[in-house]
Amino acid sequence: MDGVISSWDLSVGVDGPGTRFVVFTCGCPLRCRYCQNPETWRMRDGRTVRADEVMTEIGKYRRFIAVAGGGVTISGGEPLLQPRFTAELLSRCHAGGLHTALDTSGLLGVRATDEMLADTDLVLLDLKSWDPATYRRVTRGPVEPTLRFARRLAELGRPVWVRFVLVPGLTDAADNVAGLARFAAGLGNVERVDVLPFHRMATGKYERLGLTFPLAHVDPPGEALLERVRGQFREEGLAAV
Ligand code: SF4
Repeated sequence: MDGVISSWDLSVGVDGPGTRFVVFTCGCPLRCRYCQNPETWRMRDGRTVRADEVMTEIGKYRRFIAVAGGGVTISGGEPLLQPRFTAELLSRCHAGGLHTALDTSGLLGVRATDEMLADTDLVLLDLKSWDPATYRRVTRGPVEPTLRFARRLAELGRPVWVRFVLVPGLTDAADNVAGLARFAAGLGNVERVDVLPFHRMATGKYERLGLTFPLAHVDPPGEALLERVRGQFREEGLAAV
């Protein structure tokens, strides 16, 4: 099976437990204003690879990531834009005893089969908001498919880490965070909430692509705001980091 990817890389701490081999697939239907990976938006900017080639590369790091309690994360872009390729990677890694994670916005959750999710040990779900207006302002897309996918993951009992990017003036409103925290806590399968501080490190990438980073004028959140938001998730009984 062929897929289109932007790159692969090793990461620690942010893409699932332990050291991760992360595959960045290409193509994403959303256009989040804070996106740090604009080079993954269009499939035609990516590289076509066979799943075998990716598995060979993963094999080179297998012992290293397994010893470190890590695994493989399929990220993007949006991996569910290429559901068959993503499913094959997850299935082969899972069958080989590696911990598997799927990093998704959930917009295309209907494309994830129950079999694919059974091969997924952890879903990193980018819950940018629960409120339709805020979600559309952040992503230009609708929130309902993501909320539906989150509920389905809960019904299936699949472990989820919620990722929430904190952007001053965009996602930091107390009622936005409170609503999201209530929603996430009500699911019952959210093991952890990563409150990710917005940053501007992708500005250069945007310039190289001939694009303008829409949030170039926004300052990253300070520690007090981060703690307030983490506190709001903790008040609902969630483990926020
Ligand atoms: S869903 Fe992810 S890859 Fe797609 S635009 Fe948003 S942040 Fe970027």
